[in-house]
Amino acid sequence: MVGSELVLVSPHASQHYSSMLAGFLQGTYDEPEFAFDLMALCRRAGARFVEASADHISAAERTVDAGGEQISFDAVSIDIGSDSLGRDTPGAAEHAHSIRPMTRARALKRAAVALDAHPSVCIVGGGAAGVEIALAIHRIGNRATSKPDITVLERAATILSEFDDKARRRVVHVLMNLGVRIRTDALVTRVSNDSVLLESGETLRSDLTVWLTGAAGPALLARSDLPKNRDGFLLVDRTLRAIDGSPAWGAGDCVTLRDFPRTPKSGVYAVREAPVLAYNLRAALGGGRPRSYTPQSHSLALLNTADGKALMRWRLVASHSRAALWLKNHIDRAFMRRYQRLTRD
Ligand SMILES: Cc1cc2nc3c(=O)[nH]c(=O)nc-3n(C[C@H](O)[C@H](O)[C@H](O)COP(=O)(O)OP(=O)(O)OC[C@H]3O[C@@H](n4cnc5c(N)ncnc54)[C@H](O)[C@@H]3O)c2cc1C
Repeated sequence: MVGSELVLVSPHASQHYSSMLAGFLQGTYDEPEFAFDLMALCRRAGARFVEASADHISAAERTVDAGGEQISFDAVSIDIGSDSLGRDTPGAAEHAHSIRPMTRARALKRAAVALDAHPSVCIVGGGAAGVEIALAIHRIGNRATSKPDITVLERAATILSEFDDKARRRVVHVLMNLGVRIRTDALVTRVSNDSVLLESGETLRSDLTVWLTGAAGPALLARSDLPKNRDGFLLVDRTLRAIDGSPAWGAGDCVTLRDFPRTPKSGVYAVREAPVLAYNLRAALGGGRPRSYTPQSHSLALLNTADGKALMRWRLVASHSRAALWLKNHIDRAFMRRYQRLTRD
């Protein structure tokens, strides 16, 4: 590792934390509380920061093209998250808000606060993120005395497919009590500035459309010569290295583990992968045996329901309480503080 150069390529100088987005929309957090300064982190780590999006990665040439520069590497670590499924749906890119990248959260909050009286809002995607953001927007609307008419549109037969029946019932109960509508088997095929069109031919009014569909393989990987599964995610082995032995490693939503392909695309797993990834990158450059990563079989899920409570799911137990929201806020703040402290000189 002596003499090696560490380069971080990121299109944004700050990194936002998805888990706190619903809290940001509701006003629990200000923006600086759910972001940290990447440039300062790089300064502290002695890394060079390139504020640009990586346009191309060549494993064969060992280069990354970013910001008009061609950066050579001995090892590349790819942690670019995912794209949103169906973002190429006509009108979606122009008219639907997205929170990828997370820096768009500010624009979404502005749009939600600026809604006129009795607005219609469509949330496209009924996973945990879609439900959390639907509830947060409902809260903003109520505060502004313009009770929003919110519909969660899910193309599958059920929302929250990653939750078991008991946890799902709890969330559906919260949504229904607030008058948030759930439409399943509802594939959105077109978005305009004031409506969404469903595959069935039905048009729904939508003054604010938010695109929160699941994870799709990133376009950058589609353009690279790295091994991918059929959904376009980087295929890695247990050491988080590309399965063809390229000098490329990865973690988080952009990878699929060949041996554990059903590992959820969730931050909990990304965070646990990171120390193994860091260790193995050092081992690859300095000589040493890599470590293996095995995903945990269960993870704690905490969903902010925007009513002063959160839904907590741990294994088969689900509870909806103020204590769960306290725990969520405590965990999230403590996680961010670890990075924010490192960025203060
Ligand atoms: C609203 C919401 C709430 C969530 N809540 C939770 C939660 O409570 N718990 C949980 O475990 N998970 C949660 N998730 C899921 C979680 O956000 C992801 O699983 C997690 O962020 C994945 O981390 P990552 O590092 O792989 O990707 P990301 O966090 O998406 O980070 C990828 C980074 O790469 C950058 N990037 C992308 N393309 C390029 C490029 N070409 N060049 C350079 N940089 C690039 C992006 O700008 C981004 O900063 C939530 C998701 C959403 C949307």
